[in-house]
Amino acid sequence: MGEESARHMSLNPQTQHKARRGLARAASAGGRFVRARRDFVPAYLKAYESGQLAQKVAAARECLAACRVCPRDCGVNRWDNKTGVCRTGRYARVYSAFPHFGEEDCLRGRNGSGTIFFAGCNLGCVFCQNYEISQLGGGCELEPSRLAAVMLRLQKEGCHNLNLVTPEHVVPQVLEALPLAIEGGLRLPLVYNTGAYDSLESIHSLDGLVDIYMPDFKLWDEQASARYLRARDYPEAARLALLAMHRQVGVLQVDEDGLALRGVLVRHLVMPGLLEDTRSILSWLANELSPDTYVNLMDQYRPAHKVTTEVQFAELNRPLWRSEFRQAMEHASAAGLWRLDAREPGSR
Ligand code: SF4
Repeated sequence: MGEESARHMSLNPQTQHKARRGLARAASAGGRFVRARRDFVPAYLKAYESGQLAQKVAAARECLAACRVCPRDCGVNRWDNKTGVCRTGRYARVYSAFPHFGEEDCLRGRNGSGTIFFAGCNLGCVFCQNYEISQLGGGCELEPSRLAAVMLRLQKEGCHNLNLVTPEHVVPQVLEALPLAIEGGLRLPLVYNTGAYDSLESIHSLDGLVDIYMPDFKLWDEQASARYLRARDYPEAARLALLAMHRQVGVLQVDEDGLALRGVLVRHLVMPGLLEDTRSILSWLANELSPDTYVNLMDQYRPAHKVTTEVQFAELNRPLWRSEFRQAMEHASAAGLWRLDAREPGSR
C-alpha cells in the first residue's frame, strides 16, 4: 500500500486519560531529563545545512552495491534489485504509515507517533508478532520522493515525531528521502525504531541525523539468538549498536509535556522461560549504558508465527506468566534501572 491508504486510529477518552497520566510521569524525575521544546532543533537540520547529510547519503548508497547495510553482509547488488535475507531490493517497501497511538506515552502524546512500518526484516524471529509485514512480502515500493511525501504527510497530520519501524535494512533509502523531506519542511524528531540488529556502519551514518534511538534488545544468549532470531551474532551486534547509539544521543530527554526529544529508549519484550536473558540485558544496560537509561519492559508476548505451527518451538507456545513479568521488574530494580515506562502491565 502507499501513502494514500494510511490507517487512522482515534484516541478514546480512557486512552486519553492514560496518555495524560503517562506524559506527566515521563516528564517527572525532578526535571533532570527535561529540555525546553522551544530550543529543540532536529539533529538532521544541522547536518543538512552543513552539507554533511549529502555526504552521508552518498556513502550509505554505496553500501547497496554489494549489500553490507546490516550485519548479515549478504553482498547482493541491491542497485540491480537483487535481494538478500531482508527480501528488499533497490527501494524501501512501506507496509503502512499512520499516527500510532499504541507506542510509549512519550512518543504518542495526544496526536500520535508518525509511524512508518517498513516491510521485510533482517532477522527471522520465529515468534514475530508482525510476521505478515516482516516475512511475507507485501508493502509498496516507494522511491525517495514518495517516501519523503509520506514523512511530510505524517507531520501535517500533527504527529509528534517520525517513527521509522524496522529500518535496519533500508537505512540508505531513508537517508535518500531525508533531504527531500527537509526541503519540504520536515522538522519532527526522528525516531529510529529498530530490532537492534544494526551494522555499526549504519549507526555511524545516522550520527547527527537521528534524535531518538529506540532499540529492542531481544536476547542475550547466542544459542537462543541462533534458534529464535536466526542470528547467532545478534547479542554482540546489539551491544555494539546500543553503545554507539548511547554515545551519540545519551539518555532520553523529554520536553515540558513529557514528549521525547532526544536520547535512547530501550525496549525489551519479556519472553516465556527466558528470564536469564532479561536479567543479563537489564544488568548490562545499567552498567554499560547508564542506570538512567529509559526502559520499556514489555509484557505483551503472545505465541505467533512458527511458535504456533512448529513443535520444535513448543516451549514458546504459551503466554508470559504474570509471575515472570514481576520477576523481570525485580531484575530491573536490582540492576538499578529506575526510568521504566510507566504504563501498567496488561494495559498495552
Ligand atoms: S540489508 Fe538485507 S540484503 Fe543487505 S545485508 Fe542486511 S539482510 Fe542482507
